[in-house]
Amino acid sequence: MAAQRKYSRNAFLLKAAALAAVAALVQGCAQTPAGTTTALAATPSEASVAAHVATATRAAGTDLKALLTLCQPAPAARPPQDALDKSLAGFINRPAPPPGQAFDNLYFVGADWVSAWAIKTSQGIILIDALNTQAEAASLIEGGMRKLGLDPAQIKYVIVTHGHGDHYGGAGYLAQKYRARVVMSEADWTMTETRLEFATPIWGAPPRRDISAKDGDRITLGDTSVTLYLTPGHTMGTLSPVFDVSAGGRKHRAMLWGGTGFNFGKDVPRLDAYIGATQRMGAIAQSQRIDVLLSNHSNIDGSQAKLAALRQQPAPAANPFVLGTPAVERALAVMGGCAQAQRDRFLL
Ligand SMILES: [Zn+2]
Repeated sequence: MAAQRKYSRNAFLLKAAALAAVAALVQGCAQTPAGTTTALAATPSEASVAAHVATATRAAGTDLKALLTLCQPAPAARPPQDALDKSLAGFINRPAPPPGQAFDNLYFVGADWVSAWAIKTSQGIILIDALNTQAEAASLIEGGMRKLGLDPAQIKYVIVTHGHGDHYGGAGYLAQKYRARVVMSEADWTMTETRLEFATPIWGAPPRRDISAKDGDRITLGDTSVTLYLTPGHTMGTLSPVFDVSAGGRKHRAMLWGGTGFNFGKDVPRLDAYIGATQRMGAIAQSQRIDVLLSNHSNIDGSQAKLAALRQQPAPAANPFVLGTPAVERALAVMGGCAQAQRDRFLL
């Protein structure tokens, strides 16, 4: 769930209160070439929070500001059921954007606030995420694929990035209809089978346990391999897929960050895991020259605006989804810096 935007009201108050301390503390953070920070201050304080926010803000530059919603204070508790149902209904009722093609082999078939991505391979389709409900899977995934000239019967795998219903809600339906294999991490299979972190009748039921992915596992279909990295934090079993895409015959490498928001309440070990995951994936982005960063929520990666740009004639010379490796590393530094700020807020 992208819960961050709901909790934005206090952000500026907090920033203002801490502003005076920023200048001193910013100097106390060691900055790596990739822009990640290591807190030198042992004791969390208003000043250390502000320093992490300042570092994340610097890493965001002018192009990655959307990610800074993550630096706004997160709630100490998960939303109550009625608040969750109400906000979800609002999200789901928004008109869906048109489906679109981001790369030669990558298609967007999502809703307004949550995305699903279809990777076309030589032997069928790998779908990443399955939206909120069976109805959305039918209208937006199946319907969207048909509009784009793709056959939903070719869906062989559904990778569910994490065990929240906005990503798995339509998975059971697609699995049953097309005999698609459903992939999720062991931790999130267990979570969906035992105690859902977020439960609402609005979402489709969790899919039946199928393939349990471990860190580094590959899903290979025809000419395409998707490597699944365990990036715990948003859930403890969040998977971030990494795969090749091409634009106009040029190859690029994409990472889809599998879970972004801090909507789990006051849970410092989770934030520690999140910080570690962003640092590790920053190193992987550098070593694998990952130059495309995608999300399963379009407010994070700006996918709707980018798809709209690609629909224009003539098409833009440069594919707007290609950020370049330094920007992907900065994005991970922003997310990690915001996680460090939130960790310190919880420890104050
Ligand atoms: Zn989620």
